[in-house]
Amino acid sequence: MLRNRDLIKRLKIPALGILVLAVVLSIVFGLTRPTVVFDPPGLIVVLNLLLVGLPAVLVTFLFSRAFLATGVWPVLWLGAAALSFGLASVIGAGFLLFGQVNAAVFTHNTLLFISGILNIAAAFHVLNNNDSLASAVARKGSLSQVYVSLLIVTGGIIAFGIIEILPPFFVQGAGGTPLRQVIVAFSAVSFLVSGLVMFRGYFRSRSDMYYWYALALLLAAGGALDIFLQTGTGTALNWLGRLEQCFSGIFLLIAALVAFQNTRTTRVSAEAALAALFSPRQEANLELLFDNIDDAIVSTDVKFHITGWNRGAEVIYGWKAAEVIGKDIFALLHTSYLDNSPVAFMQQKIISAGSLTSEVIHQRRDGKNVYILSRTNTLKEPLKNTVLGLVFVFHDVTESRHSRLALQISEAKANALIRFAPTAICEVDYKQRSFISINDAMCDMLGYSKDELREMSFFELQDEQSHELLVDRLHRQAAGKVNEDTAEYSVKKKDGSVIYAALKFMVNHPAGRPDTALIVAHDITERRKTEQALQIERDRLISVLDAMQDGVSIMDQDYNVVYINPSLRAIYGGVENRKCYNYFNGFSVSCSWCNNARVLSGAVLRRETTIAQTGRTYEITDAPLKNSDGTISKLALFHDITERKKIDELKDDFIGMVSHELKTPLTVVLGALNAATSNNIPPQEVKELLDDAAWGAETMSDVVDNLLEFSRWQANRLMLSTQPLDVASVINRVIRQFGRKQSSREMVADISSDLPVVNADLVRIERVLENLIGNAIKYSPEGAQVRITARTGPECLVIGVHDRGIGIAAVDQSKLFQRFQRLETTMEASLQGVGLGLVVCRRLVEAHGGRIWVESEPGKGSSFYFTLPLPGE
Ligand code: ADP
Repeated sequence: MLRNRDLIKRLKIPALGILVLAVVLSIVFGLTRPTVVFDPPGLIVVLNLLLVGLPAVLVTFLFSRAFLATGVWPVLWLGAAALSFGLASVIGAGFLLFGQVNAAVFTHNTLLFISGILNIAAAFHVLNNNDSLASAVARKGSLSQVYVSLLIVTGGIIAFGIIEILPPFFVQGAGGTPLRQVIVAFSAVSFLVSGLVMFRGYFRSRSDMYYWYALALLLAAGGALDIFLQTGTGTALNWLGRLEQCFSGIFLLIAALVAFQNTRTTRVSAEAALAALFSPRQEANLELLFDNIDDAIVSTDVKFHITGWNRGAEVIYGWKAAEVIGKDIFALLHTSYLDNSPVAFMQQKIISAGSLTSEVIHQRRDGKNVYILSRTNTLKEPLKNTVLGLVFVFHDVTESRHSRLALQISEAKANALIRFAPTAICEVDYKQRSFISINDAMCDMLGYSKDELREMSFFELQDEQSHELLVDRLHRQAAGKVNEDTAEYSVKKKDGSVIYAALKFMVNHPAGRPDTALIVAHDITERRKTEQALQIERDRLISVLDAMQDGVSIMDQDYNVVYINPSLRAIYGGVENRKCYNYFNGFSVSCSWCNNARVLSGAVLRRETTIAQTGRTYEITDAPLKNSDGTISKLALFHDITERKKIDELKDDFIGMVSHELKTPLTVVLGALNAATSNNIPPQEVKELLDDAAWGAETMSDVVDNLLEFSRWQANRLMLSTQPLDVASVINRVIRQFGRKQSSREMVADISSDLPVVNADLVRIERVLENLIGNAIKYSPEGAQVRITARTGPECLVIGVHDRGIGIAAVDQSKLFQRFQRLETTMEASLQGVGLGLVVCRRLVEAHGGRIWVESEPGKGSSFYFTLPLPGE
């Protein structure tokens, strides 16, 4: 092939010589007009068939294919022009063979004329560089229109020739008519013009095809000129014209073959390359395409020897085109297939399959390996199955392969992580809501197997509330909003039990729309249970604290009051985010006595404080309170100790008083006994001393009796031993006893004669009377009368003890019957008492079902009354 190409190159100058020779001979013959006639029709037919007809048909075929492939307009017109040119020679020669000279000249000249017009059309398109026809259907349509029209016209011309309806073209013997001359001259001019346009193409592109085509057209022009000059057949000029047409046919074929030849070394199809010659834009596009493509595009012949090598190939492999042309592509690139297929086998496969895609490793010029996605197509001869060569497109996937491998590794890692993670993870189809993948932990959590879950929807596992929650969250997530809170969902296990899970999900949007969602679930059932239990505990504690009489407050480490119970709120009001020093004391800084530091480090401290708001005294216990989050708060417990303190004081006083009360008679007793037992005391004095001792002992006995009664009552052990009692005799007996003890007061008994008998405890009634009469004596001046009355009242006996003593102010009267109450105003050193007598009276009277009261006027005297219910009422 290389040889052929060189040959054609070498023939370029001789071919021009033929043209020059033809022109010279035309001039010579035109001027000398030699009259020799050599006219063997057989030879003419053979020459025309072989050297014009056949090449013309081949050219037509190639150019038609090129037009169909590319839509480049000149190719269409050139193909039709070639056909018309060939038909002119063949049909004209045919008529000549049958001696129809007139018809021969008519058909030949007319078809030559048509060929000229078509060449002009082609030249016009070459000059104007019209856009190619893009649509394949339109190309087919245009092609068939042109060829069918041409064939119809040719058919008509042949028909006219046969039936000898010939325009006044040529008359045998007489020669050409003016019409014939015009037609032939026009043909000559049109061939000349189109030939020159082709030459222009040659000078622009240096393409051999243009060169040969231009020569062919110029020779055709020469042929027409000669026929124009010499009308007769068989003359020297006529023969010159014929030979010129023969050469024209041959050159046309050469032009087409050259174009085709070129395509075998370039990277495009023959059709495209041929068309590209006539369309600079097409050519530029192809050049641009092939040289700007990043992929390597390599063409080879059938033996895999490189015939074309684009810039992409130079970049990928590092070899320049000139260095690799003619080399075996497989050897050059050290090709090995990724699937380990043997190279020879693959070569076979490429040729037989027509096209093949495979992954290969190539070696670059610098020895480094590159990973290549290789696509190979065979280049076949048009309409035949012969493989002319191959085109390899190599796409460098080294980078993407590395990143793909890295991706695969990280994917594998992620999958393993998900699979073996102790956390439940699954992937859910966003639309179908079915499971795509589930990890082991998820199966364990739900109690279902993977296969069972794959049959189910993720949403089946939830109750309505959780379902709605999840759908809402998924929609929010899919809309790009952030779900900040970690919502909790109830999930039903296979065994029907319900667990609680915190779900986190990530929605994937591969094509802008939500596609899959990755869901990570944490089983928080235990935590929830603990929290619930804790909450119940807390609620219980709060309700206890709320119900407490004692005040309770809790402060955090930063002095914030985080809780106060209603008792404290009643004193200090609502707390609303206040610091303890401000809330309790109205300070703006912490209290100088603040014990937080010690309490928070573990000490339990107690202190007493009187709160101004209530005026009451509290014992405040401050204790550390450990919170679940590890922090420590201070718990303060306010216990109201006002009463206790008062009682304590009273008790102290009481002990003092009792001691004093016992000490006085005891001193008398001891003094009297000491004196009585000393020597030389007259018997009369001894008796008086013993009487004093007896008085002291009785006084002590009275005090002790009252104490005993009171303590019995306090201990709920006050038991009456009732019996029918004649109150009058009891009163008289007590008066007698008092009369014996002292005589400074006048005792008068004023008792109704018809007193009924009552059920009462004799000893206790005596004690009541003794207490009341004792007080009457104590709090009235010497010589004053003490009167004891007893009357029958409504449903009861009313017994009164009246004195004319100091009396009791109205305000004090109500206090009299409370324990340890002694009226300050009446206290005199001589009038000792423990404030217990009246209380004991009250308890004893009330134990009998009666009541006790006082009527008194200060300075005038007092009347103490008590009732005893009548029996059976
Ligand atoms: P005491 O041991 O002090 O007499 P009581 O309970 O008997 O205790 O009396 C309480 C107080 O009531 C006395 O301290 C006194 O002030 C007042 N009181 C009791 N009886 C009389 C009375 N008859 N006249 C005036 N004051 C009395």
